[in-house]
Amino acid sequence: MSQSEVYTVSVIDLMHKPGQMREASLDILTPESMGQGIAVIPMGTELDLDVRFESVHEGILVTGEVFVDADAECSRCLEPLTVPIEVDFQELFTYSVSSEDDHSVIDEQINLEQVIRDAVVLNLPLHPLCQFDCLGLCVECGVKMSENPHHVHEAPVDSRWIALKELQQQDPLNSNLQPEKE
Ligand SMILES: [Zn+2]
Ligand SMILES: [Zn+2]
Repeated sequence: MSQSEVYTVSVIDLMHKPGQMREASLDILTPESMGQGIAVIPMGTELDLDVRFESVHEGILVTGEVFVDADAECSRCLEPLTVPIEVDFQELFTYSVSSEDDHSVIDEQINLEQVIRDAVVLNLPLHPLCQFDCLGLCVECGVKMSENPHHVHEAPVDSRWIALKELQQQDPLNSNLQPEKE
């Protein structure tokens, strides 16, 4: 099976019968991952679809809803998260092809891949959070602030003192490693 074949649905029963419609529930295992950000749909994730196919004069009108779980991590504390995505989509698949951007009925079939991919990817969260008021990570030690919100650190050593110490160690005048002259 080619990758987009799983998104293909036969509509031969509805073609050129305006007014007729059919509803279907489809489960699709994604043959490819979706999204490139902090939240993605990995390959092999189950998409649950509720779809209505309606025959209209120009073609087949598809209206549906996708349910899928995205893998993500909290953008503040990096905790792994599952983000449920629920998206509506609608697209007219025409009998005639008038431009490359159009979706068409081809060989009595329609291919939902692009429609579903666009709907899902546009709805992946850009900055997912484990909870809306996530406190993130401590800038000093990286510990999760929600687990240890009141911990404190000793005042950091002033970096200028560290630089001065290093200088002293490198200065040959302060070094005892010089061989003594006889
Ligand atoms: Zn978080
Ligand atoms: Zn800390």
